[in-house]
Amino acid sequence: MAAGSPPPPPPPPPHFVLVPLVAQGHIIPLVDLARLLAARGARATVVTTPLNVDRLRGVAEQAARAGLPLEFVGLPFPPAGSGLPQDCQNADMVADNSQFLPFFFALRELAGPFDAYVRSLAPRPSCIISDWCSPWTAGVASSLGIPRLFFHGPSCFFALCEIMAVDHGLLELIAAAGDDERHLVPGMPVPVTVTKATPPGLFCYPGTELLRREAMEAMRTADGAVLNTFSDLEAQFLEGYEAALGKPVWALGPLSLCNRDEDSTTSRGKTAVDGKQAIMAWLDEQAPGSVVYVSFGSVARKLPKQLFEIGHGLEDSGRSFLWVVKEREAAAPEVREWLDALEARTAGRGLVVRGWAPQLAVLSHRAVGGFVTHCGWNSVLESIAHGVPVVTWPHFSDQFLNERLVVDVLGVGVPVGVASPVMIFDDESAPVARGDIARAVSALMGGGAEADERRRKAKEYGEKARRAMEEGGSSYENLTRLIQSFTRSEDKEH
Ligand code: UDP
Repeated sequence: MAAGSPPPPPPPPPHFVLVPLVAQGHIIPLVDLARLLAARGARATVVTTPLNVDRLRGVAEQAARAGLPLEFVGLPFPPAGSGLPQDCQNADMVADNSQFLPFFFALRELAGPFDAYVRSLAPRPSCIISDWCSPWTAGVASSLGIPRLFFHGPSCFFALCEIMAVDHGLLELIAAAGDDERHLVPGMPVPVTVTKATPPGLFCYPGTELLRREAMEAMRTADGAVLNTFSDLEAQFLEGYEAALGKPVWALGPLSLCNRDEDSTTSRGKTAVDGKQAIMAWLDEQAPGSVVYVSFGSVARKLPKQLFEIGHGLEDSGRSFLWVVKEREAAAPEVREWLDALEARTAGRGLVVRGWAPQLAVLSHRAVGGFVTHCGWNSVLESIAHGVPVVTWPHFSDQFLNERLVVDVLGVGVPVGVASPVMIFDDESAPVARGDIARAVSALMGGGAEADERRRKAKEYGEKARRAMEEGGSSYENLTRLIQSFTRSEDKEH
């Protein structure tokens, strides 16, 4: 550069296009990541379906008010001929188990509209970050020469078990073995055993083999991975995962900690129930650490028999509770009446939320001292990030291995005691009895050395989580490096 000539203009901010799987447990963390990217100087676009764009209007409006370069794009879905109803655009809108596979296979047809959308962008995006369950994005990225990272939603512990199982042929071994055999997952830095009922993979159900192959292939051909975890929580698994994958792994979480005000903690995924003020006011009246929060994520649905067992168990535990029952679960008149009667019997110490709860706001309230969770990774990490220990009740897919991490490795959980999954949308068998729930809740919320130790560890992880997301923290600095690496790519005309 000649002396006195003006410095070259700074490179334009990198543009990240994020493609979550259309399920709340996948959309929520990727929207958090998009907000973080936009807040840190990059441009971010979340590509989803129209129903989800509509649900995320609150987030879009907040971003616009804050002047963040964050936008949402809706691709047409479901495709004609899929047989799915028009509003079936999110896993929580799938009516029953028979719609589950058609829904996943229809998602693959988003590749065409996605390709057209990306081609319409000038300049082309710097990077596509797509969910590991959205492998149909891989062909679009490679045909246009755009770098692609995959976002792996569950714990790194699960991700490493999965890749080890595939690399060592464990899934085939399990398929050929008996139901009661336990199998050691090879290559894990700690001993982990699984059974036929709890194999280490998401798409391990009959009819999903093609989906698994495509997801694994898209992981292998990606340029790296983004995980919602942090180094102080999962260092040994992150190290193993990066080595097994042979490409960069970016640990950027807990992503939920980017939500710092009431507006954002209560509007994740979709706007929380109208009564959110009443929920927070009720929590304000409870003693610190006295309330157990009970919720099973966005997808699992329970039939009345199991709901009644939960209600009885909470009542019998004698503890204060805040229990989230989904709209569809509470739709039947007999359930509505039963829940009203439960609330009357436990007045002052029991609150039932019907619908979508402001989970993050609840978990960050000082009155909450425990969480009965289905072990969806977002719920687990949100709890840990707020120093709240858990009762673990896994339902399906990665949740059984998340339970092992929480109970055996991190020491912040009490198992309710389930050994096999329930079908995604119901649990006709009501596998968990009231006595199991009362016992686990009492152990979690009660006194004694073990309970105190769980609380101490949870609090310690909560503090480490906060530090990871602050300037100078591991996840904060990883995000800085991620953005920088694609800013440089911009210079190279990516
Ligand atoms: N969630 C919420 N309100 C609810 C239920 C769930 O805000 O009433 C959020 C929760 O905070 C988490 C996500 O939905 O971020 C659920 O993801 P998770 O991985 O825990 O479970 P999944 O829904 O994928 O089974």
